[in-house]
Amino acid sequence: MDVLIIGAGGAGSVVAQKCAKNRDIFRHIHLASRTLSKCQRIQQRCQSEITISQLDADCVADTITLIEEIQPQLVINVALPYQDLAIMDACLATGVNYMDTANYEPRDVAKFEYSWQWAYQERFQAKGIQAILGCGFDPGVTNVFCAYAQKHLFDEIHAIDIVDCNAGDHGQAFATNFNPEINIREITQRGRYWEAGEWKEVEPLSVSRIVDYPEVGLRKSYLLYHEELESLVQHIRGLKRIRFWMTFGDEYIQHLQVLQNVGMTRIEPVEHQGMKIVPLEFLKTLLPEPSSLAETYTGKTSIGCIIEGQQDGQSKRVMLYNVCDHAHCHQEVGGQAISYTTGVPAVAGAILMARGQWQGQGVFNVEELDPDPFLAELSKQGLPWHIKDLQEGNLDSVA
Ligand code: NDP
Repeated sequence: MDVLIIGAGGAGSVVAQKCAKNRDIFRHIHLASRTLSKCQRIQQRCQSEITISQLDADCVADTITLIEEIQPQLVINVALPYQDLAIMDACLATGVNYMDTANYEPRDVAKFEYSWQWAYQERFQAKGIQAILGCGFDPGVTNVFCAYAQKHLFDEIHAIDIVDCNAGDHGQAFATNFNPEINIREITQRGRYWEAGEWKEVEPLSVSRIVDYPEVGLRKSYLLYHEELESLVQHIRGLKRIRFWMTFGDEYIQHLQVLQNVGMTRIEPVEHQGMKIVPLEFLKTLLPEPSSLAETYTGKTSIGCIIEGQQDGQSKRVMLYNVCDHAHCHQEVGGQAISYTTGVPAVAGAILMARGQWQGQGVFNVEELDPDPFLAELSKQGLPWHIKDLQEGNLDSVA
């Protein structure tokens, strides 16, 4: 397969390097991004030759021209969620398969919903091409864990808690592990979860629980809305409740509250000395690049799904999870674990597409595809996963 990777950030670096390690699958690898120097740095890290170019993927015509030149069978979009629709348009125009790791986001309002991308279903079907949405870790591996549980571990799934812990330490007072704009938009929106057939909302970061994370231990975790909830509600049968939890340190929350209080996380433009600036975009300029955190990062991520339901008439509670070590990732690819856990699943999915194990026409969320070959490939590509039986009470309430 020939592949075009768009986006030379933390995740793009991992995708390019992992593709370059799987030369039996990926023949021609081309990396394009807005800043050429970032592509050059990644090109130097790759163990085999890749080609690069500058591209502004907001410009559909430029992306079409590049696709026509490279003639890939797959475009992996690891730029920002703002580019999703423009890149999908370019794939439609050229008849090339598409994959991303995050849902489309309009610039002016935080939504985290799939409606815009699901609207491409008929056009992708008519063109005979496949779009795979959200093939990172969460969304991505977490969706596949749910699909695996539905296929092999349960007759009925009643409740899912997706639990995401980054127990790493990068030594900075405040930094985000992936693109700051997207990360801060995600955290500052109202929390939302699905229960008894309807969405319920809570104030941002107002609900927390202590979760026992494998290889990490007990951590305070906050209820957030996360995009995979929307597709899992549709694809996991009989679901009564699904929630998403993420850990944040007290210092991180304190910084965020101050930034919010002074208006630095706003996404509407403000007038500044005769210029319009978006405070959150300016904040991104000041914060460390997520990829720059890797060098000093220690500790682990521990992310998984706690799933409750019934099998053979018996109640059951299991956790499917992966633990990933920041320092190991840095040693292997020069990146931190958040970039690694995003990039590796995308490459595992791309390998399945190349082998014809993930096939289809139209727009798919990953839980609609066969989880078995994906989870086998994920372990092979560096993210081993585990299942453990749980007792009641792993999500204990805190005052
Ligand atoms: P980064 O900010 O590190 O990288 C994004 C890259 O995209 C940068 O190189 C940037 O270029 C490039 N880019 C931005 N705009 C354009 C454009 N118009 N045309 C071409 N290239 C562009 O982000 P990450 O690598 O951390 O994240 C990449 C994606 O992965 C994001 O969509 C993020 O939401 C998603 N993600 C998914 C996760 C999951 O588990 N599913 C977890 C973490 C991230 P420049 O350097 O010039 O700004």
